[in-house]
Order: sequence, then structure tokens, then C-alpha cells
Amino acid sequence: MSDNATDDTIFGKIIRREIPADIVYEDDDLIAFRDISPQAPVHVLFVPKTPIATLDALSPDQASLVGRLVHAAAAYARREGLAEDGYRVVMNCNGHGGQTVFQIHLHLLAGAQLGRFGT
Ligand code: C5P
Repeated sequence: MSDNATDDTIFGKIIRREIPADIVYEDDDLIAFRDISPQAPVHVLFVPKTPIATLDALSPDQASLVGRLVHAAAAYARREGLAEDGYRVVMNCNGHGGQTVFQIHLHLLAGAQLGRFGT
């Protein structure tokens, strides 16, 4: 990890095991854990270990990390038997997007029929 300020987010602390989380997957590039306030029967967050505050701060050479998040979420959904019924992946950016933790992350939501998006 770099000394970037986003290392100090709650997700940086989870990555460093400074605070607990229900971790369901980890590799060299990313970690996945259950959301503490689930918005669906299955709600898992996929977080890159590289500190990146928002999607708006993503550089071209970091774009593949987002592909890793999506692929890890799809693989998790398949392993957990969620793929056939289906699921949703979401990334929130800044205020209107509803982002509250400023380390990029992908939400995987599954386990029930989800509503349409909107305001
Ligand atoms: O996209 P957004 O930034 O709003 O998502 C942050 C998510 O992180 C929230 O769904 C929140 O419940 C979750 N969270 C968590 N564990 C924490 C703090 C926040 O799962 N310790």
C-alpha cells in the first residue's frame, strides 16, 4: 500500500485487519467482505487494495483493477449459486452517487428481486 490518504479509510483498516469484517474473498489485488448494513439478502463489497478515492480519480493504468472487481464479483456469485437467479453490481461516485467511503468499491447485491434504480 502507498501512503496515499485513502489508506486511512475504514476499508484500508479492514484490509490491514485493524478492524474486523466478514471477509469472504481475498487475493493480492482485492478483498471482499459482507456489507455491515446489507441492502439485500446478499450484499458483498469488493475493494481494491490500491488506494483510489473515487471512480473520478481512476487513472487509465488503474482501469484494469475495476475489471478485476467485476470479475471477482461474478466469480463469487457463480460459486455461491447466485448467478442463475441474477444479481446487481453497483459503484457509487461522490455525493449524488451516494458514495460514503472514499476508497473505490463495487457492491454485489443478490438473493431477492431488486427494485429498479432512480432517485
Ligand atoms: O457506496 P458507499 O460508499 O455508500 O458504500 C459504503 C458501504 O460500506 C456502505 O454500504 C456501508 O454499509 C459499508 N460499510 C461496511 N463496513 C464498515 C463501514 C461501511 O460494510 N465498517
